[in-house]
Amino acid sequence: MSNPDVIVAGGGPAGSSTASFLRQRGRSVLVLERERFPRFHLGESLLPFGGDLYRELGVFDEIDRRYLHKPGARILHEESGESFTYYFDCAIDAHNPYAYQVPRGDFDQLLLDNARRLGAEVREETSVGKVAFHPDRVEVLARGPDGREFTVEAPMFVDATGRDALVATAHQLKVPDEAITTNVACYTHWQNARREPGVDEGNFTLLLFDGGWWWLIPFRGDVTSVGVVFEKSYTLARKGMSPAELYEGALAEQREIRKILDGATRVRPIETTGNWSYRATRFYGDRFLLAGDSAAFIDPLFSTGVLMAMQSGKYAAEAIDEALAADDFRAERFARYEERALAGADLFKKLVHEFYGENLRRILIASGSNPTVCSIIVSLLAGDVYKKAMWHSVIRKRGFSRLAHQGEIPGLRPRSTRQIARSSGGPPGDPPPSR
Ligand SMILES: Cc1cc2nc3c(=O)[nH]c(=O)nc-3n(C[C@H](O)[C@H](O)[C@H](O)COP(=O)(O)OP(=O)(O)OC[C@H]3O[C@@H](n4cnc5c(N)ncnc54)[C@H](O)[C@@H]3O)c2cc1C
Repeated sequence: MSNPDVIVAGGGPAGSSTASFLRQRGRSVLVLERERFPRFHLGESLLPFGGDLYRELGVFDEIDRRYLHKPGARILHEESGESFTYYFDCAIDAHNPYAYQVPRGDFDQLLLDNARRLGAEVREETSVGKVAFHPDRVEVLARGPDGREFTVEAPMFVDATGRDALVATAHQLKVPDEAITTNVACYTHWQNARREPGVDEGNFTLLLFDGGWWWLIPFRGDVTSVGVVFEKSYTLARKGMSPAELYEGALAEQREIRKILDGATRVRPIETTGNWSYRATRFYGDRFLLAGDSAAFIDPLFSTGVLMAMQSGKYAAEAIDEALAADDFRAERFARYEERALAGADLFKKLVHEFYGENLRRILIASGSNPTVCSIIVSLLAGDVYKKAMWHSVIRKRGFSRLAHQGEIPGLRPRSTRQIARSSGGPPGDPPPSR
């Protein structure tokens, strides 16, 4: 492709969605992806509201057929063994009653192949090096699979390089989120880990312990992704330990996770990653946009990354389509893109901050006896943050803590508290697990 309208760096969910939505608007796109797909990636638990995007992209049926359905999120407490589950079919807007658990290599390839099907040119094993922004064009220097460098030009550039954040790093736009108290994850896959019975098999499990939390993400078949996220204080006290020592040490100390993995076999090496919570000071500039993790990443606590990446890809495509129509690529016209992408992300961020600020425990307690709060928590966990709703503004203005003491919210009809199914513990209203 000699002169695409847009060059996208990165073929993950943000890059492939940007490309597909641009193709649906008739724009020519070149995607440059460093790896050969399928490649392993973190972020294997999706949220129900991704369903709307899969439908728009024409991949809903394939996703629905291919992956294990995730009807809810179970919260389990290591120290007490108590657990409860939020079911997505009880969200305020429940038209996406479940999500999916996906091996990301496969899922990302499905999305990237779909971008190709829609007409995007995709070059894998092609790494973007330098990006030069000129008044009349963007010039991208890349290296292809044969090791040779080449240059391509376009009116617009999208950085969708994930946490590598090519442009934000080069221009020092990344600011860490200091309110987040975790900073290291160690993870692997297990075969034959214990699962919940029946439809609950597909639930995400968040296992809280003093020092961090585990994720359990079951895939169709017998493999389960099991990762652990550590508090900074936990890793500091174990300075010098390898990722495998940290992971196995936590496993040895903890009863609930050992019960789940009793008789299971580890089928991948233990790997690690860290320092994930940041936001770029701006998501745009003359002739470029940042999409997905390259713009911002919130702690992985509530599995929000892929939804945010794909939604930002959609907003990026809309903004660029308008810019191409107007032949105007000045930064100012992209401010609205950032606003749209941030509106939803900020609600997730609030929820995560409340969790790490320890307020979430109070909120979870309130959710057991307050249908309004309960509906809101389920809706947020389902990813209902992008379309406008009255309850969004209430949270933005008043936060969660005040919400817990509030009865009614105008325009919100709570369903009930029945979505909290206690598998153990006391009657409704008793405190759920503490961290
Ligand atoms: C510990 C942890 C757990 C997580 N769990 C979840 C979860 O359960 N659910 C969830 O939704 N999210 C989760 N996430 C977040 C999720 O992984 C990301 O938000 C998501 O992958 C973002 O998509 P993206 O397209 O922006 O970036 P990526 O998926 O990272 O894609 C970026 C692509 O860009 C390519 N690339 C990088 N540099 C270059 C370059 N120079 N040139 C060309 N290509 C390049 C990479 O190869 C990659 O394929 C988790 C994250 C972490 C750290």
